[in-house]
Amino acid sequence: ALFVLGSFVVACSATVERLPRAGESLRAQAFLVEPGGKGLNLAVGARRLGATVDGLLAIGDDVLAALAAPALARAGLPAGMLHRVPGPTGAGIGFTDAAGENCLAVHPGANARLGPAEVRAAADRIGRAALVLAQFEAGDDVVAETFRIARAAGVPTLLNPSPFRMPSPEILGRTGILVVNAVEATAFGTALDVPVPEGAAEPGHLDVLAEALLARGPDLVVVTLGAGGALAFRTGHPALAQPAFAVNAVDTLGAGDAFTAGLAVGLAAGRPLPESLRLAAACGACVVRRKGVFDALPDRAAIAALLAG
Ligand code: ADP
Repeated sequence: ALFVLGSFVVACSATVERLPRAGESLRAQAFLVEPGGKGLNLAVGARRLGATVDGLLAIGDDVLAALAAPALARAGLPAGMLHRVPGPTGAGIGFTDAAGENCLAVHPGANARLGPAEVRAAADRIGRAALVLAQFEAGDDVVAETFRIARAAGVPTLLNPSPFRMPSPEILGRTGILVVNAVEATAFGTALDVPVPEGAAEPGHLDVLAEALLARGPDLVVVTLGAGGALAFRTGHPALAQPAFAVNAVDTLGAGDAFTAGLAVGLAAGRPLPESLRLAAACGACVVRRKGVFDALPDRAAIAALLAG
C-alpha cells in the first residue's frame, strides 16, 4: 500500500464576478464545498489509479468532520485512515473571480493537532508500505517521525513541501523523492542561497538548485512548472523533461497533488521514471480540465482516454 500522512481539509469556494473588497458582501454565482486537503487529495488520486492506499488523516469533532467518512467510502479508502482529535476540523475558504484569480485562507484545525504518538501507533502500517507520502499540511515533528519509521523499515519516502517551509535537514535527509512546484523551487533557492528566478522557468537555474537538493538527501527531485510540464533530476543523469498535456485549463487547483499521486503510483509499482512522469502529467492535466479536485481526480479510464488523445 501507499501510506499517506495527513491532511483533511473541508474546502469551501465561492465563484464571484470579482474578489470582494474589505467590508463588502457580494452575491456568489456558485458555491462548492468539497472534502480536500493535500493528504486526502493524494490518497484519492492514488486510489483512483488502482493503488491500495493507507494513511493517517486527522479530523476534529465538529460538524465538518462528518464529511470525512462518506468521502473516504466514496473513494474506496479505508475508514481506518481517519484519526479523530478534539476541536475543529481543518477548513478552507476561497474566492475565484471571473478571470480565474483567487484568494483563500486555510485553517489547519485537527491537522495541526496530530502528533508523533499517533504516527508511532501506525508504525506497523508505515513499515509495511510500498511508499510513504507526506506534505507540509502536517507538522514537522509528525513528518520527521513518519519518515524515520519508514526509513528504518527500508520504505521509500516522498515529500511535497507544500505549503512551503524549509524542511529540516533531518526531514530532507530522509526524503527519497522530492516534488516541488515553481513557487517552492524559488523558495528553496532563496533558503539554500542558489538563485532561482521567480517562476523557476529557466531549466538552467534549476540544474544548480537540483544539485544542491540532491546533495542533502533526495535521490530524485521533480520540479513541476504548470503548463510548462515537469523536470526530473537525479545524480549522475541528465535532467528528464516531461511536457504538460495540452488541455483546456479551467481550474488549476489540485494539479500538483494529482501529479504527485500519479508519480507515486507509477514509481511504487516499479514503473520506469519516464513512464511514471507521463502518468503524473496526465493526472495533472485531468484535474485542471475540471472545477474542483475530489471529483476531478482521474481514474485509469480517464488517463487512458487522455493518453489515447
Ligand atoms: P501546483 O498545483 O503544485 O502549483 P503545477 O501547477 O506545477 O503544480 O502543476 C503540476 C502538474 O500538473 C504540471 O507539471 C503539469 O503536468 C500539470 N498541469 C498543471 N497545469 C496544467 C495546464 N494548464 N495544462 C496541462 N497540464 C497542467
